[in-house]
Formats: sequence, structure tokens, C-alpha cells
Amino acid sequence: MLVNTIYQTIGNTPLLKLDITAPNDVNIYAKLEMFNPGGSVKDRLGVNLIEDGLKKDKITKNTTIIEPTAGNTGIGVALAAQKYHLPVKLVVPEKFSQEKQILMKALGAQIIHTPSSQGITGAIKKAQELASEIENSYVPLQFKNPANPEAYYRTLGPEIIADLKGIGVTALVAGSGSGGTFVGVTQALREKYPNMQAITVEPEGSILNGGVEHDHRIEGIGVEFVPPFFDSITIDTVETISDDIAFYYVKWLAKNQGVFAGSSSGAALAAALRVAESLPDNSNIVTIFPDSSERYLSKGIYD
Ligand code: PMP
Repeated sequence: MLVNTIYQTIGNTPLLKLDITAPNDVNIYAKLEMFNPGGSVKDRLGVNLIEDGLKKDKITKNTTIIEPTAGNTGIGVALAAQKYHLPVKLVVPEKFSQEKQILMKALGAQIIHTPSSQGITGAIKKAQELASEIENSYVPLQFKNPANPEAYYRTLGPEIIADLKGIGVTALVAGSGSGGTFVGVTQALREKYPNMQAITVEPEGSILNGGVEHDHRIEGIGVEFVPPFFDSITIDTVETISDDIAFYYVKWLAKNQGVFAGSSSGAALAAALRVAESLPDNSNIVTIFPDSSERYLSKGIYD
């Protein structure tokens, strides 16, 4: 494939049918989003946030883009902003992986740290403070911006439908951080499969199943507040997955399927296997593997 810009390589990722014996002989299909150029599902979002801002004149020449992020959105935003020569400041809680922060800087972004103890809420607040101080700045704010689920509704959902070539989808199992991926893909798939179950995945330490907020090793999913996007869909269940189980499947995927997947992918697979227990024989589950384990090597993902 000859391309003229790296942006042409965003999306159209492979959908892998896992070679796994799941309960009730359920088939599990995983969309491999680590194949995007910035290494995650969030490249789709970065482009959409910047282009939506440009379309709505919230971004003009030299507008400074400021975004609170756990990392992958930062990489996606920095990549997209480079296309339009826009300066980028990313507000990142300290705890997130060094690899992601190194990549954001390599793309030309500046990083501002907030204390890990303040979570993503602290990063959001800091981003808004910076925006009030910096003239001609814009915070796309993935956590509230409808351009977030819309990015996945327009690209990831239709790709999955096309990849499956008529194979029906019984259930979507996908993690939620901002909730954009899960909601956008659910909306697109339900237009084709109205009875599809939509199951989201969170780590222990996230609040969706009534749990108490605490630290977890799984990176990229888990919420401190219910994503506003959830209002626009019906969610069947939320699966809460422990760090240990997620990391077990991260190692399993490398060793048995040759797939380098991050911990949110491990959690998604663990949840898919749990969901399979209550589905009819030979059902089809689609799940999303948002990024690669390679950006967590320094955190001992394979230890
Ligand atoms: N997995 C990883 C590794 C991520 O970085 C993110 C985004 N924070 C997600 C899953 C969740 O995606 P979303 O924000 O669309 O819910």
C-alpha cells in the first residue's frame, strides 16, 4: 500500500478471530487497534477532535490545543495536530506509562503533569485552568465532546460490520475510559444488529458497578464519573475485571496468539470469556483491543 501521509494509515485495522475455546463455542473477534500509526484506537479520535474543532472554527491558525489524557489520546491528538502545525499541551497524571509520554513528546507535544492522586479529574481541571491563561487555546475535552463517540461511530463500527461480511454480532464487549469507543461502536453496530448486547468493561477500582474508586494496574479504562455518552445507549451489563485476570490474558495473548496487547485488551478478553458463558451456542462476540503491550514494558507488563 503506497500512502502519501501517515494519516492515511489510521483505521482499517485487522479483525482477528481468536483461536480460543470459549464457553458455548462462542466465537471471539478482536479488532486490533494497536495497528494504528500512533499505536492505539485513539488515533481515530485525535483526527476527529482536531478536524471537528477546525470545522467549528474553535481552532484557527496557531491555536494551542490543550487536552487532559491518560496518554493514548495525547498521542492521537499530537499526531493529528502536527498535520495542521498546531502547538499541543497535554495534561497527564504522573502515574501513566513513560513510553506514552516519550511518544507524545517525540510528536512535538509539551507535557504538563498533575498529581496521580488527583486522577483524571485533576488533569481536566488543570487543562481548563491553562486554557483560561493561554490566549487562542482550545480544549477538545474528549470526556464530553460528542466528536469522541462520533469518531468511532463513523469509522470503527462500520469497519467491523464490513470485516464480518454478514456474520451477525451477538454482543460487543469493550472497555470504557471516556466511553467514546464503546458508545460509538455500540451505536453503529446496533443499526445493523438491533438486538446486540452491549457490555462494557472496567477494572476493579472503577465505579460503574458500584465499586469504590482505587488505584489499578490496568491502564486506559476505568472511570471516576459516569461518562455522559452513556446516556445515549442502553447498556446490558458492566463487567468488572481484576488486574490479575487482565494481566493473565495479556500474557496468554502473547504466548498463544502472537498478539502484543495492553492491559485493557487483556481485561476485554477476560470479560468476553465471562459474557460467553451466558450466550447461546456459537454466538459471536466482538471486542476491541485498544493498544499494544509495548508501551507498558517499563511497567513490567510481562513480569
Ligand atoms: N484502552 C486504552 C489503552 C486506552 O488508552 C483507552 C482510552 N483511555 C481506552 C481503552 C478506553 O477508550 P475510551 O476512552 O474510548 O473509553
